[in-house]
Amino acid sequence: MNVNDTEIAWAILQKSGYTRTKALDEADVILLVTCSVREKAEQAIWNRLQHLKALKARRLQARLPLHIGILGCMAERLKEKILHREKLVDIVAGPDAYRDLPRLLTVAESGQQAANVLLSLEETYADILPVQTSAGGTTAFVSIMRGCDNMCSYCIVPFTRGRERSRPIASILQEVKMLSDQGVKEVTLLGQNVNSFRDLSEVHFQSAATPVLSRGFSTVYKAKPGGLRFAHLLDQVSRIDPEMRIRFTSPHPKDFPDEVLQLIQERHNICKQLHLPAQSGSTRVLEAMRRGYTREAYLELVHHVRDSIPGVSLSSDFIAGFCGETEEDHQQTVSLLQEVRYNVGFLFAYSMRQKTRAYHRLQDDVPADVKQRRLEELITVFREEAARTNRAMVGHSQLVLVEGPSKRSASELCGRNDGNIKVIFPDAEIEDAADCKALVRAQPGDYVLVKVTSASSQTLKGVPLCRTTLSRSAACC
Ligand code: SF4
Repeated sequence: MNVNDTEIAWAILQKSGYTRTKALDEADVILLVTCSVREKAEQAIWNRLQHLKALKARRLQARLPLHIGILGCMAERLKEKILHREKLVDIVAGPDAYRDLPRLLTVAESGQQAANVLLSLEETYADILPVQTSAGGTTAFVSIMRGCDNMCSYCIVPFTRGRERSRPIASILQEVKMLSDQGVKEVTLLGQNVNSFRDLSEVHFQSAATPVLSRGFSTVYKAKPGGLRFAHLLDQVSRIDPEMRIRFTSPHPKDFPDEVLQLIQERHNICKQLHLPAQSGSTRVLEAMRRGYTREAYLELVHHVRDSIPGVSLSSDFIAGFCGETEEDHQQTVSLLQEVRYNVGFLFAYSMRQKTRAYHRLQDDVPADVKQRRLEELITVFREEAARTNRAMVGHSQLVLVEGPSKRSASELCGRNDGNIKVIFPDAEIEDAADCKALVRAQPGDYVLVKVTSASSQTLKGVPLCRTTLSRSAACC
């Protein structure tokens, strides 16, 4: 989300005549795009500001301007308090205020501090085409919606990113087409809750159907009826470029229509990979978190997903030590990890955030050392299961989208398979599947068939077999 927000803010500033530098010493403006999900993320920003203090002091001495801004969720959460606490900061802009950045910077140039933290019910930056900031340009994020209405009791997001709103489909398709024309080979559709996507702008297409939740799932808000749904968007996006992989994140387990699962199964360019954020394996804790499902409903969904999409790769999020979590609850999470066997996991110790329902109604009563110990136990179990799952791929071939040289060795290439697992292989001459006589070196953006020779919990290693295409590889399989 923050990568995408950076690209949006950057596109707005570029239109106003700003140019980008990678050298901190050359910058007249430094903007930090921030996260508030955990205390640790905010602390990293306060530390960063301390480092920038010396730079700003040097600039002042040389009478050269340097303006510093805080953007994103931390700006929204703390608002003007940031300006009072840290005089170094000139501007504060919340996630819905990026269009106002040029004005805020003009105010800062006149020597005053400036803030805009207004949240919007409509802002989706639909007309802003983000400027890609990632090196190589093989993969890109495309924001399809902003905000969230779910109000999970631990989560600050509904307070920092506002109410849920979907971007019109037409503007999403235009952006994906533009990325395809630029040679981008993988797009991740982004939103806090992508499967509740609902484009209400095309009223003539509205269906009267009100959403129906599967058994064992509930929601705290009343979803709007009608509009074009996520399955429709996914269908349209996947038709733009048969050589472009499509991923999406994050869906909420409570909104998984069969149409979406069917599409994933049918289309060769929609990755057979799903993020199913569980957060806990204990129904009692899930209830306190207000996640809208029980352990049993979640597991039923996992089985349904695996039946519908054979070989699907699953990832998830977990929180260790939420309010009131007992050893028994923790063991339930351990057993969920063992039962589901995720390929990828994001696990964190609980960090209470002001404003959330948990802050007002629950006790952050699991001691820090217990949270840490439980987190370590979850990580150990997750790694054991992921390593076992990944080892099952040894001896089989995987289609890898090459991202570039491996960080560890210039003689190796790094990319990701369909399941979003990192694959490393030697940068050697290989056959081109389109012309068996030609030997080629794979480049970023190429698809390479790799035979897996070893696996750990996070990485696969292998030998390259040939360069191919997404469509050709799907036809062979
Ligand atoms: S679904 Fe829950 S955890 Fe995810 S952003 Fe919304 S409130 Fe936060």
